Amino acid sequence: MRARIAEIFDSVQGEGPYLGEKQIFVRFFNCNLSCTYCDTKLDRFTEYEPNELFEKIRLYGDKYHSISFTGGEPLLCADFLKEILRFTSGYGYRHYLETNGTLFSELEQLIDRIDIIAMDLKFPSSTGMGNLWQLHRKFLKIASRKEVFLKAIICQATDEEDLKEALAIIKEISPSSVLVLQPNSYEDQSVLHKKLLNFKQIANRGGVMACVIPQVHKIMGLR
Ligand code: SF4
Repeated sequence: MRARIAEIFDSVQGEGPYLGEKQIFVRFFNCNLSCTYCDTKLDRFTEYEPNELFEKIRLYGDKYHSISFTGGEPLLCADFLKEILRFTSGYGYRHYLETNGTLFSELEQLIDRIDIIAMDLKFPSSTGMGNLWQLHRKFLKIASRKEVFLKAIICQATDEEDLKEALAIIKEISPSSVLVLQPNSYEDQSVLHKKLLNFKQIANRGGVMACVIPQVHKIMGLR
């Protein structure tokens, strides 16, 4: 069993409530979506067997908050990931899954070994793609068995109706989860600023804890 891995590196988490935590990043190559704002333009990969990848991870040692499995979409390689998690659990690593929140059957297969889930909510007006609400709903139901927070990219084109749909899903399924609103880093931040604060207020008034956190690793020039 082999998986395409775009890169393995150590750095600090640049997004969300675990901002600044030291992590080992394992970036999977493929993705099942094509968001217009995607900044993960991967053009090369190395194929690994699970035990080969585990050996690479072990070289970093254990002075890290967690291993971040990111992409692309790591759950496209669910069987492979399950094997890796089996190895890394034995060494006491914590597992942080960054996911686009659509592959719920795959999540079900390995949720028991995941500690923290950073789940995207793809607003159709932001991504330029179709509606993924039903997939997000099913995914969040499974993810809410563990610690999960939600992330949504906010663009100039983002529609308030999408925010309201997201808030309804969070309130229904995982009301204590935080929603992180991230400005699209390719757009004028001063224009987005007002919209983000307005969205945060709407969320907070609606009973969902929301915060505005930009992708800090980009601002700081980190990977
Ligand atoms: S889900 Fe993430 S990696 Fe996949 S296309 Fe969208 S932004 Fe890019």
